[in-house]
Amino acid sequence: MLSIVIPLFREGLHLAESLRETILTLDSLNMGYEVILVDDGSPDSTWQVIAEQSKQHHAIKGIRLSRNFGKEAALAAGLEQASGDAILVMDGDMQHPPTLIPTMVQHWKAGADVVEAVKQYRGSESHYSKARAWFFYALFTYLAGYDLRGASDFKLMDRRVLDAWRSMGERNLFFRGMNAWLGFNRVQIPFDVPVRAGGESSWSFLQLIRLAITAVTSFSSAPLQLITFTGAGFAIFAFGLAIQTLYQKIAGKAVDGFTTVILLLLVIGGAVMLGLGIIGTYIARIYDEVKARPRYIIAERID
Ligand code: UDP
Ligand code: MG
Repeated sequence: MLSIVIPLFREGLHLAESLRETILTLDSLNMGYEVILVDDGSPDSTWQVIAEQSKQHHAIKGIRLSRNFGKEAALAAGLEQASGDAILVMDGDMQHPPTLIPTMVQHWKAGADVVEAVKQYRGSESHYSKARAWFFYALFTYLAGYDLRGASDFKLMDRRVLDAWRSMGERNLFFRGMNAWLGFNRVQIPFDVPVRAGGESSWSFLQLIRLAITAVTSFSSAPLQLITFTGAGFAIFAFGLAIQTLYQKIAGKAVDGFTTVILLLLVIGGAVMLGLGIIGTYIARIYDEVKARPRYIIAERID
């Protein structure tokens, strides 16, 4: 059996249509399936549409979160309910074309544990958003050592992979990264991202920054080491400067030194604050994890 997990936020207007296409493709596969729709606290008609659709198709199940927890949490909610032998994750806005599903299933049947669709052409995205994604993945690859360029949340996983994923207990979720961390036997298939079915991408700039920080801090402690290296750099520099200062003092020509003092103060002050900020970010993550709050709250469900 195949489980499809789709997180949804404000997709009410075009959900019925996207589902129709997905279901058509699934029917053509000749295997059992369930579709788990997770309403991530949408203010629009998403939940009503899910309720209607579940009456028309037995395979459709709905989960409604008590508020908007964000895509990663919505995805986790769906994944934890999935009972299939293979689990497919996709977006509800048709940017992950259902026509790819048969190929993904074929690869899985041929023995792949993870089949990931890799973005080849990012479609109608603005240059700014492409540049942002490029910068983020370059930084992530450099710091964390996992190459996620082109990675999407359009993936098919074997049951074993899902079970392994479920054993990862972190509260701060970054599905793409967690999935790459798991390893297993992976197959990548390229796809071009079509335009959104309707509505608009609901990630705010701040949410993206937050996801980027979660991603980097979850998978790399390199920023912490950076502080150590910066500190070491400053220490060497300080040693040189101390000798020079003492020499001048002994030679009886102590500097006026105002400019030097101001510059040192600014540079070192900046470095110290930056260092504190980085440490603070990691402490905040520890704090989040230690609180051990649930990743999401389910308000309603339709089986
Ligand atoms: N989504 C969600 N919760 C959110 C934001 C988005 O469940 O807070 C869902 C959304 O409904 C869609 C998927 O995540 O199915 C991808 O979102 P979107 O299309 O806005 O992002 P993009 O395609 O720009 O990455
Ligand atoms: Mg989208």
